[in-house]
Amino acid sequence: RDVEAIAAGFSVETGVAAEAADLPLIAVCGRPNVGKSTLFNRLTGSRRSIVGDEPGITRDRIYGEIEWMGRDARIVDTGGVVPDDEALIPSEIFRQAQVALEEADAIVMVVDGRTELASPDLELSRLLLRGGKPVFLAVNKMDTDALLAGAENFRRLGFRNVMPISAEHGSGIGDLLDAVFEVLPEEQDHEPEAVMLTADNELEEDEDGPDFSPEPLQHEAGAAPVRVRRLRSHGEYDNKETKVAIIGRPNVGKSTLLNALTGTDRAIVSPIAGTTRDAVDEVVERGGHNFRFVDTAGIRRKGKTKLMAEKLSVIMARKHLEAADVSLLVIDAGEGVAAADANIGGYAHESGRSVIIVINKWDLMTKVGPDGMRLFDGKPPADQKIYEQDVRDKLKYLDYAPLLFISAADGKNIESVFKKVELVSRERRKRVTTGQMNRFLEKVDFQKASVPMNKRVRIYYMTQAAVAPPTFVLFTDKDVKLHFSFERFLGNQIRENFGFIGSPIWFKVKARN
Ligand code: GDP
Ligand code: GDP
Repeated sequence: RDVEAIAAGFSVETGVAAEAADLPLIAVCGRPNVGKSTLFNRLTGSRRSIVGDEPGITRDRIYGEIEWMGRDARIVDTGGVVPDDEALIPSEIFRQAQVALEEADAIVMVVDGRTELASPDLELSRLLLRGGKPVFLAVNKMDTDALLAGAENFRRLGFRNVMPISAEHGSGIGDLLDAVFEVLPEEQDHEPEAVMLTADNELEEDEDGPDFSPEPLQHEAGAAPVRVRRLRSHGEYDNKETKVAIIGRPNVGKSTLLNALTGTDRAIVSPIAGTTRDAVDEVVERGGHNFRFVDTAGIRRKGKTKLMAEKLSVIMARKHLEAADVSLLVIDAGEGVAAADANIGGYAHESGRSVIIVINKWDLMTKVGPDGMRLFDGKPPADQKIYEQDVRDKLKYLDYAPLLFISAADGKNIESVFKKVELVSRERRKRVTTGQMNRFLEKVDFQKASVPMNKRVRIYYMTQAAVAPPTFVLFTDKDVKLHFSFERFLGNQIRENFGFIGSPIWFKVKARN
C-alpha cells in the first residue's frame, strides 16, 4: 500500500489501506464547482492538490480519512477529475454517483447555494434519492447568516436532510457530520491489536474531578474503539512534502529569499500539470524532506505602480495561502510592521496555515558605519529582543508564530528557515489523544481566564477532531460561541502542554444535554 499517500491523509483508490477498508464510507457527490473538494479538504485536513500536483495520474476518486467525535470513517470525493469537455460532464458525474451508491454508507450531495439549480443537480438528486442509501443535501457557500434562508429553496430537490454549510468558512460542518455519523454503521471491532485502551484506561482510574464525567470516555472505549493509527501519529511525517508560501508586501525580499532558499540547491522547477495559470512551484529537497515553494512565478511578479503592487501582494498572499501548509510572512526590518503586513498576517492567521514571521534585511539594522558604533544613518544598531517585542505587539494574533531574523541577500540564517518550516509542519499534524486531553483539562485553572461570568462555559470533555490545523471540539454545558479571551486562554494552555508551534488552534463548541 502506498504509505506516502496515506501519510498525506488520502490514498488513491488502488492504494486504500487495508486497515481503512473496514471503515464506513461517506461519498461526496455533486457537479463541478459546487465546492466538493473544498469540503473534502476541510474534512480530511489534507489538500487535494497533493494529488493534483502529480502529473499524469489518472484518478477519478480521492479517498481520505476523517475522525469525528472519536469515530473514524473514510470519505471519498467523487469529483476527483472531471473532463473539461462540458458535454462529458453529466455522464461523468452520473458514473461516479453510481459508484458512490454501490460503495458508500452515506452520501452527501453538494449544491452551490448561490446559484440556481441546474439540470444535472436535479437528475443527480433523483438518482441518489432512488438509491436507497442515506442521503444528505449540503447547500454550500452559505457564508453568512443572511444567506442561510436561501438553503430552504433547495428543499424542492426532495431531500429530507438539508444542511446549509460553508465549506470555505467551516460553518455548518459540525452539524453535517453529526447527522452523517448518526447513520453510519458502527466500526467493526475486529482489530484487537488496534484497540488502544491504555491512555483512556489510565484516565478512568485516576478520574476524580466531578467536572469530567466519564460517560463520553466509556463511549469511546466501548462503542467506537480508539484505533492506533501509526501513520498518523506525530513524528512520522518526516518524508512528507511541505508546501510553503512566501508572502509579504512588495520589496520586502520575497524573491531574494526564494532564491536563497532554492539557489544553492538543485531546484526542480515543476509547472503543475493541467493548469492554465502560470503557477510554477519549486521543490527543494533537504535531508529527506521536500519543501515545495508554491507559485514562485507569482512571487517574482512585480506590479506596475506602488499601490497596484501592494494590492496585488495581498491578493497573491491569499491565493498562495490556499495552496500551502506553511507560510513565511516576510517583513522588511528597515520598515517594520506596516498596515499591509498586518493585513496579510491576518489572512495567514485565518487561513489555518502555519505561520513563521521572517524579519528580512536584518543586515540593515546591524551593519555599523565608519565610526564602528552606529548604523550608516546614525542610529544605534537594533536589539533583536526589543525589535521582536515590537513586531509581536503589532501582530498579536500571531503569537504562536516563530520569528526569525534573516538576511536573504547575504544568505544569513537561511538554514534556520528550513528547520523551522519542518518543525511547524510536523507540529500542525500532531494529534493529542482524548485521554491526554482530559488529563490536561483537569489541571487547567479556569479561574485564571479573564472572562466575564456570564460568558463562562463548563467544559465536560474535549477531543481533537482534526489536524492541520489542530481542531478541538469542546463538549460544554451551553451552546455558545466561545468568548474571545476564553479561546485565547485555552489555546495558550494547550500550547504550553502540547506545543503546536506555529499553527493556529481552532475550536468548536458542542453543547451536551
Ligand atoms: P468542486 O469542483 O465541486 O470540487 O469545487 P471546488 O471545491 O473546487 O470549489 C469551487 C469554487 O467554489 C472554488 O473557487 C472554491 O473556493 C469555491 N467555494 C467552495 N466552498 C465555498 C464556500 O463555502 N463559500 C464560497 N464563497 N465559495 C466556496
Ligand atoms: P519582493 O518584491 O518581496 O520579491 O522583494 P525583492 O526580493 O525583489 O527585494 C526587494 C529589494 O530588497 C531588492 O533590492 C533586494 O536586493 C533587497 N533585499 C532583499 N533581501 C535583502 C536583505 O536581506 N538585505 C538587504 N539589505 N536588502 C535586501
